Amino acid sequence: MVKNRVIITSMKTITETNIPSPCWLLDEKALRKNLKILKQIKDESGAKILLALKGFALWKSFDIIRETLDGCCASGLNEAKLAHEEFQKELHTYSPAFKESEIDTIASISHHLVFNSPDQFHRFYKRVKEINPDISLGLRVNPEYSQAPKEIYNPCGLYSRLGTTLENFDPSILQACDGLHFHALCEQDCDALEGVLENFEAKFGGLIKKLKWVNFGGGHHITRAGYDREKLIALIKDFKKRYNNIEVYLEPGEAVAWQCGDLHTTVLDIVHNGIDIAIIDSSAEAHMPDTIIMPYRADVEGADEANKKQYTYRLAGNTCLAGDIMGDYSFDEKLQIGDTIIFKDQMHYTMVKATTFNGINLPAIAIKREDGSIEVLKTFGYEEFKGRLS
Ligand SMILES: *Cc1c(COP(=O)(O)O)cnc(C)c1O
Repeated sequence: MVKNRVIITSMKTITETNIPSPCWLLDEKALRKNLKILKQIKDESGAKILLALKGFALWKSFDIIRETLDGCCASGLNEAKLAHEEFQKELHTYSPAFKESEIDTIASISHHLVFNSPDQFHRFYKRVKEINPDISLGLRVNPEYSQAPKEIYNPCGLYSRLGTTLENFDPSILQACDGLHFHALCEQDCDALEGVLENFEAKFGGLIKKLKWVNFGGGHHITRAGYDREKLIALIKDFKKRYNNIEVYLEPGEAVAWQCGDLHTTVLDIVHNGIDIAIIDSSAEAHMPDTIIMPYRADVEGADEANKKQYTYRLAGNTCLAGDIMGDYSFDEKLQIGDTIIFKDQMHYTMVKATTFNGINLPAIAIKREDGSIEVLKTFGYEEFKGRLS
């Protein structure tokens, strides 16, 4: 929490105290720190690493990410176009189901295309190869093993539609298939990957020697403190050794933008109903939906859990949804209207999911450069709210 911000409009330099509110502020230094870790994984393991746009797609930061990562993985036409226009290295597109009306464009700009089912593979592969003879085709398989912490994030759960099970595998695709893809992790360490790999190999290992690549998906929490990077490197090296130095891809989203920036918001009002409630100019529902879906509690700068410090407040969003609540937090000092509340680690799965629900403004997007200067990249207003309705 930062005490009453004074906005001096004539001031030319933008600092953290006069950025728009709400605002996502990417920290370039922290992003580069993550990329350095990912580079080490690449260099020592020989794997290629892609950015999963599903988790993080702040494309004005792609100049920085492109220096290290090998490309992007996209989940469909729009993400593929963004990667093609703004990232430009390798583009791997996987979708749970491709559409007739979109497959031609996707085929023309992608380097890898991963189908979810043998049926989709058969339906589209000839057409895709005709449009782009150099494209490398693959199939997402379901290793039917995951330690994902929640069912909503478990691609190998009961009745999952994501990936082909061994039972549904159709060997006739193999004549045109260069690789297999699995994605079975969510914010997980290497031990979980080891378990997935064992199951993947037990089911599909017999096919791998004939392939050009295997994609280990995302969910690797590589940049988190305590993640066993040496073990990841060893697992990949061992896998490559056993399969003729086959190309291995990782496609993390969260790990790229992990702890790379915050959401800056402002206290608008403080109301009392059994407890003290601070209403801020943001929304858990619209701007940080994983706090409700996961659910989890974002850290707030200078704050602790409820009742640990002297003054406890419920921080709540400025929408009419009763459950639009970020959580209960305690502070050393009383909150005042105009105070800044900073939610930590709000780069991944936030701006890609944000909505204008209830007409609430999307947070501005800004970047703090390595020298400390701040560039406001984009602000949003009524036009964005109106423009996505009709
Ligand atoms: C979500 C997803 C990713 C990225 O997952 P993170 O948890 O953000 O690393 C990668 N690949 C696929 C297929 C995904 O669905």
